[in-house]
Amino acid sequence: NQKAVSVLGLGDMGTALADALLAAGHRVTVWNRTAAKAEPLVAKGASRAETAADAIVASQLVVICLLDYDSVGQVLAPHTDVLAGRTLVNLTNGTPAQAREMATWATEHGADYLDGGIMAVPPSIATPAAFVLYSGPSGAFDTARPVLDAFGESHYLGADPGLAPLHDIALLNSMYGMFGGVLHAYALVRSAGGSAAEFAPMARRYVETMGAYAEAMAARIDAGDYADDVTSNLAMQTTAYANFLTAAEEAGISTELITPIYSLLQRRVADGHGHEDTASLVELLGTPRAG
Ligand code: NDP
Repeated sequence: NQKAVSVLGLGDMGTALADALLAAGHRVTVWNRTAAKAEPLVAKGASRAETAADAIVASQLVVICLLDYDSVGQVLAPHTDVLAGRTLVNLTNGTPAQAREMATWATEHGADYLDGGIMAVPPSIATPAAFVLYSGPSGAFDTARPVLDAFGESHYLGADPGLAPLHDIALLNSMYGMFGGVLHAYALVRSAGGSAAEFAPMARRYVETMGAYAEAMAARIDAGDYADDVTSNLAMQTTAYANFLTAAEEAGISTELITPIYSLLQRRVADGHGHEDTASLVELLGTPRAG
């Protein structure tokens, strides 16, 4: 079922999205500020629009993947006269508030607005590893979905346009927390003359095994119950964690990635929760830190 789709923004990600749409057989119109980036896609059958307005006019469905919301604002603002009747799918990284503001703006100009978060890197677009989060009006999503599925598995999160960026950021936070731990581990291994490559299989195995704990942690958090069947209590962990800081100092490496968790552990134990599970730390994170 071929559809006309326009793609605004042909950076690494926009190019991968346009490629996926072409591979799925859609009629793809592309536009990029630096026009030369359209050439490889044109060679594969895409049409190059001279202006962003031409690209918006060319298709009812318009996918936007630019650097940030400022770029999206700059690209769309001069073309409010051509937005009516379009469905804008903005896959640019931003905050929930930015998504809500842009949704209001687009709706005022007669467009349907879906926000999205791409949980993939460009080479994994259109592979089973890719999934994309969407939020905005469900009718617009249902209509666009058969086309959007070309990027990867589509997950619809609800009518509030801020939900896709919120979950996108939550997942990216999970990733950076994991990367932070692994980078610290590599620095520690290297301090003893070890190689990152030799250590990597162990790191991956342990991170994957412990990653499975996310669901058990979620059950405790949703129940607000951190004291049942505890196998690794916070007091014990806090004692061990002190060794992590000492070991880093002895090795002459930075402690900057590992100190924040230690301060949470210490505070929670000091507050009388030393017998509880790791999940209990979430109770310290629900509000900004006082002072
Ligand atoms: P790139 O840096 O490769 O591309 C940036 C794009 O934004 C280019 O098309 C660039 O145009 C355009 N752009 C920047 N500023 C402006 C402006 N003021 N006016 C018009 N166009 C502008 O980034 P990616 O393609 O990798 O990322 C695009 C979005 O996708 C980002 O929001 C990113 O967070 C998100 N994303 C990226 C992932 C990745 O791994 N790459 C993963 C998941 C999401 P020009 O070519 O003219 O410079």
